[in-house]
Amino acid sequence: MHNSSHNARVVPGRASQTVLSIVFYQHYNSRCLMPHHRYKLSDLPYAYNALVPTISEEIMRLHHDKHHLAYVNGANAALDKLQKARETGFAGVDVKAIERDLAFHGSGHTMHSTFWPNMKPNGGGKPGGKIADQINTDFGKFDSFKEQFSTAAKQVEGSGWSILAYEPWTQQLITLQAEKHNDLTVQGVVPLLVLDVWEHAYYLQYRNDRAAYVDAWWNVVNWDDVEKRLEKARR
Ligand code: MN
Repeated sequence: MHNSSHNARVVPGRASQTVLSIVFYQHYNSRCLMPHHRYKLSDLPYAYNALVPTISEEIMRLHHDKHHLAYVNGANAALDKLQKARETGFAGVDVKAIERDLAFHGSGHTMHSTFWPNMKPNGGGKPGGKIADQINTDFGKFDSFKEQFSTAAKQVEGSGWSILAYEPWTQQLITLQAEKHNDLTVQGVVPLLVLDVWEHAYYLQYRNDRAAYVDAWWNVVNWDDVEKRLEKARR
């Protein structure tokens, strides 16, 4: 079972076809069977300028290549620290701080990995199929859902997200706000549609008018992707 790529490191920014961009680099060290995971930044599923005029090319380049990459690197750095502590001892290691870093950067990576394919050029409109049925069942009608999701996005305090999520055990859709990435969540939900309302996601183009960004963002929603996530969550 020994894997020769013992010291293989993820090279950020490389093209990857993995859907969730989470790559398991499993290897086994000489002393024990210890899976070793690292995260990887996937390319955008479209060109940097594909969402113009809703989201500018400049924002997409900075957002993906700088901000998302920083989350990937931060999560991997936290994993490195934990691995080192396992190998050399936990004395003097601030595990609480490392876990906080891992939660923050790991959640940032997960959310951005959902956010990019949640959008597409010439997206928007109303969803069809199963996601439309579920939205109608749980929110009454699409416009009610849209207003609820948009209002959550406009009102989330500080930097954060608006989230449409599926709660498997109640088999229903709910909307959530996330402050930063990791607060105000309901453990166990599956994010289906997420909207990044950190200032880096819109400030260059929309300045302080978050509401204008939220309203325009519906033009690039990829409902096919959202439905795919719902079907996967239901399994
Ligand atoms: Mn972001």
